[in-house]
This record gives sequence, structure tokens and C-alpha cells, in this order.
Amino acid sequence: MTRYIERPSPNFDARTRPIDLVVLHYTGMQDAEIALARLTDPAPVAGSYPGPWQSDDAAADAPLPKVSAHYVVDESGQIFTLVPEEHRAWHAGSSAWDGEADVNARSIGIEIVNGGHDFDLPDFPDVQIKAVIGLLRDIFERWPTLNPKRVVAHSDIAPERKADPGEKFPWAKLAEAGVSIWPKNVTEVQPSEDPVTEVQQQLARIGYEVKQSGVMDNVTRAALIAFQRRFRPSDLSGAADDETRALLRALSHQLG
Ligand SMILES: [Zn+2]
Repeated sequence: MTRYIERPSPNFDARTRPIDLVVLHYTGMQDAEIALARLTDPAPVAGSYPGPWQSDDAAADAPLPKVSAHYVVDESGQIFTLVPEEHRAWHAGSSAWDGEADVNARSIGIEIVNGGHDFDLPDFPDVQIKAVIGLLRDIFERWPTLNPKRVVAHSDIAPERKADPGEKFPWAKLAEAGVSIWPKNVTEVQPSEDPVTEVQQQLARIGYEVKQSGVMDNVTRAALIAFQRRFRPSDLSGAADDETRALLRALSHQLG
């Protein structure tokens, strides 16, 4: 039985779209208490949240963006509720998925307590991942528009800005538990006349914000890294190599 603890955040507004997406994040801060403080702070300033994300000479009273999420899951598997699902929390920032930019308006945001890249990518404890899986199952039961295909990483929806929940996050375990996707029936790819257009089409079919330019631009490379972070985390080259192409083809067919 999942235990929820209320830790209300004032940082939300009204949804303008129906819910059809779940976004997973890591908190990327020192610990759960600091992350909870930041996500519930109605007037955050730089001095309250020192860390590697800001320079030492940042003015202590410099305002920071107001942020929130619907849920925070700590390392012990404790789940905190910050914003009711009916409201629009502020976790996605500038982002896009399926050709739509206001991801906050249509998503439920889950912050998973983990130091992330700034704190040497700590492991996610099993008990924490079990709690995330249980939470996703609860959410799917409440919202018929949500299912394993509708769970994305923050890095998927903002590949040039964000890397969370990071390459250590065990997406395969979530897929095994039936709450996320994983490429199936992966077969070897043949050489392609135009591999860049091909991967751009496949990335876009999955949901990534990528234009079909036929050119390996920064946006495409960032989206490829986001894809690799989830499905081929051992090598985040950003290259359209054979293994990445095979995984992309399999997944885009599954979702298409
Ligand atoms: Zn995030």
C-alpha cells in the first residue's frame, strides 16, 4: 500500500489541456528536504539553494523561477503529494512532445529524489523504483488517457536543456513492470541512403521535437542522446549508429 504524505506547493495554475503524459525527473539537489523546500517555495531566491548550478557570486536575493511537481518520491520510497493532479504544476519548463509545447498543461510531473549529474549520478535504490512503479500504476488507474507509452523523461521533452532522470535511471525495470516502453523485436539494420532523415522521422514519430531536415543538426543530435539515455545508456554518442538505428526503428514501429 502506497503511503502519501501531503506537502502542498502553492506553485500551480489551471490546466488548459486534458492530461495525457507523465514526465519523470530527478531532483538534482543535495537531498529530499532541500528539493521539497525548493518545489514548495512561493518566492525562491538563489541564496537559499546554493549548489553547483549557480556561480558563487550569484546575489543571495536573486529570484529563482517558481517550480513544483505533482509528486516527489524520496530514496526510501516515501511519496509526497505537492500539487493535485487536476492542476497544472510547473516542472517541464521550455519543452515539447508530439508537436505541442505546453507540456505542463497536459502532464503529471514526478520528481524522483536523486543528486543526478551534479552529484556523480548516485544509484536509484530499488525501494524508490518500486514506489515510482506503484505510483505510475495508481496514476494509470485514475486517468484512462495514461499508459506506459505516455511516460517520458524530462530529457525527452527538452533534450537540449535537460538530462534527467539520467542514464542511471532504470527504464528497463519500469518496462518489465509494465509501466514504461522498451524496444521489442529489435533486428539488424541495413545501410541506409539517408540515415539522418530516417532517424529524424523515427524520433518525430516517437514524439521528439525534431525537424526532418536531412542534416545532423544540434537538435537531432540532442534528441538522439535523449533516446540513448533511455534505451542505450552505455553509449551516449548522439550518433545514428547501427544499434541506435535498430532500437529506434523497433520502438517507432511499436508506437506508430
Ligand atoms: Zn527535470
